Parts: sequence; structure tokens; C-alpha cells
Amino acid sequence: MELLRQLNQQLQTLDQHNLIRQRRTVDSPCGPRVQVDGRELLAFCSNDYLSLANHPAIKQALQEGVELYGAGSGASHLISGHGRAHVQLEERLAAFIGDHLEAPRALTFCTGYMANLAIITGLTVADPDTAIFSESLNHASLIDGARLSRKRVQVYPHADLATLKQLLADSNAATKLVVTDSVFSMDGDLAPLPQLLALCEQYGAWLVVDDAHGFGTLGARGHGALEHFDLRSPYLVYMGTLGKAAGVSGAFVAAHETVIETLIQKARPYIFTTATPPALAHALLTSLDLIEGDEGVARRAHLQSLIAQLDSGLQLQRWQRMPSSTAIQPIVIGDNAETMRAGAALYQQGLWLGTIRPPTVPAGTARLRATLCAGHTSADVEQLIVALNALERT
Ligand code: PMP
Repeated sequence: MELLRQLNQQLQTLDQHNLIRQRRTVDSPCGPRVQVDGRELLAFCSNDYLSLANHPAIKQALQEGVELYGAGSGASHLISGHGRAHVQLEERLAAFIGDHLEAPRALTFCTGYMANLAIITGLTVADPDTAIFSESLNHASLIDGARLSRKRVQVYPHADLATLKQLLADSNAATKLVVTDSVFSMDGDLAPLPQLLALCEQYGAWLVVDDAHGFGTLGARGHGALEHFDLRSPYLVYMGTLGKAAGVSGAFVAAHETVIETLIQKARPYIFTTATPPALAHALLTSLDLIEGDEGVARRAHLQSLIAQLDSGLQLQRWQRMPSSTAIQPIVIGDNAETMRAGAALYQQGLWLGTIRPPTVPAGTARLRATLCAGHTSADVEQLIVALNALERT
């Protein structure tokens, strides 16, 4: 009972600081328009960047996958849950990212969160003398992976190459791991990956790239941040998610075959969990075809045009835009309560945006976060621009 009292007190404190998070129940498929509480909303808050989550070809492939493989995998990968569709997906993903790696191999995971835990804990298991260099705006799953590894972690300030260089130069750890998001999930900017990779190669460090928001959206063929920056190195460990632009669920790691074999043998988030349903892996084969093909090219081009439209249309004075050229477009308001009021006012008008507060972002930088998707029309984005410009002036 004492615990319940303490928990209630904690919840009240969150409420007083406008930090309670509300879930809303969606009654329709994911898409640019969704049904919530009997209303249609224009949603600017999903990560379904290419609007593939409700794509007829992927849904059909999912049904086909269920016919072929049933509903569930029934076991973990190392027992009996590793299906033919998982193998096909891994081979396809290794080819997808392979141009950028040496001796490429890919491994699928249930979620990106688990893949990140696996990379950091799995890669650091071999050498007790490992140091981790982690970018300050990294996703929670990378932070948690570093904590779980129980290795020395040094956090370098956002995009601060000079500080990272100094930390790498000063470190005498035998194994060094630099860990970064490619597209920062709450700011939308890109990590300076070419410069990061150059530093890693100079100091013999590995570069772990979390491309959750880049896979499918960046690069001419949608292969992600490594294609966008035209990078290639044996020192790269790449993580892409399959529940965002790919429209389904799951994640994968692509790296040198020895790294992947190590994860299979050692990474607890891979070993001790039930494999994703093979039907999902089967559906993802169609997602990858769409991402790489003409349809993906057209969807990325449309998405870019929407990003440019928002960029030129938003005219804010008090609120601050972040310098983002990706589908993630944050508008920093600062104060938690004002951010919540702005989010509620937009919602009233049928516009659903993310309201992001601490601890997800640093205190004093609460923000609205608009994410654009290929399924949005130019008129949708115009509606958002008009609403935001007007709201800021009230
Ligand atoms: N990394 C980043 C940068 C993310 O934004 C997310 C999800 N929000 C993840 C990892 C985790 O991916 P998943 O949702 O597949 O667990």
C-alpha cells in the first residue's frame, strides 16, 4: 500500500508539471487521416513516412504470409522460430545495405529497441576494455543499451566533432564504439556521418548508426543514411527499423558477418525472445520492393516537396523551427503547458501533432513535432501551415 501511495504521488507530480502522457485510441488503419473518438483527424504524428502501413500490396502479402506460415512463430530464433521468410528477409536486407559494408550480413529483430540493446551489449561482450562514445541526443534504446553493457560511456555533445575527436584521442580503450542516431528523432536533423566515420577510421573505432528514421526515406533507392551519404566501411554497424517507413514492424542489424554471428550467439535481446511472426517478414519483402522501386522513388519525391512546402510556408516569430530537412519537423515552444495548449488547440481543429516534453527532450525545449508522410497532400500541409501560423499569433 505504501508503494501505491508513492506511485500516486509521483503521478500527481507529473500531472502538475503537465507531463502526463495520454494515449488516444485509433479506430482506423494508420494513415494521413485517422478516426479517433468518432472524428476524422489529419495525423501529422506517425512515422509511416512513405504511407505504406495501409498499402494494399503489403496487406495482401501479409495475408499470403499468414496462409503460408500461420499467425505466430512459436519459439525464439535459436529454438524453432526461425522461418523461411526470416531467412529470405535477412538475405534481402543484406543485399539492401551490402554496398556500404564489408562481408555484409543482416539479422532481424522484433523491434528497433531490442536491436539497439543487442548491438551494444552484444558487441561489447567480447572485450572488457571497451569504451562507448554516445551522442547526447541519441534515442533511449541506445542509451539503455550502453547502460546495460556496463561499459564506460562518454557522452559527447550534439554533433560536436571536436569534442568527440578529443575523447577518442584521449581514450586508451582497446575497443571503441561510437554510437549515433542518423536522423535525430526529436530534432529531425542529420548526424554528420561522413565526418563521424572518418574519425572512427582514424582512431580505430566502430560506428554504430541507428537509421530508424532514415531507412526507406533517405537515399535515391531508399536504402537509408549510408546511401544518402555514400558511405562504405568495414567499421559500420547499421540498424534500420521496419515499423516506420517500411510500414510493418521489426528491425534489423546489418554489419560484417562476424559481427552478426556474434549477435546471434551472444545478444540476449535476440536469443531470449519469441521470433516475430514469419508472416510479417514475408510482408516486408513486398515493402522492400516498394521502397526500392518506382513507387518508393515517387513517394520520397512527394515527401520532399511537402517538407519544402512546410519550410517555406511556416512563418513563426516566437516559436522556433529546428533546422531539419527530413520528415521530422519540430517547432520548439519551450514551456510544457504552452506546448500542451498548442497541441490541444490544433487537435480541436482536427490536426494531430506530437507534443514532446521532458524527459524525451531537455527541460525548457518542449515542442510540437510534425511528421510528414507521402500520403499527405499539399492541401493537407497548407492546412497545417495556416493553423500553426495563426496559432502562434494568438
Ligand atoms: N531508434 C530510434 C531513433 C527511434 O526513434 C526508435 C523508435 N521511436 C527506435 C530506435 C526503436 O524502434 P522500434 O520502434 O522498432 O522499437
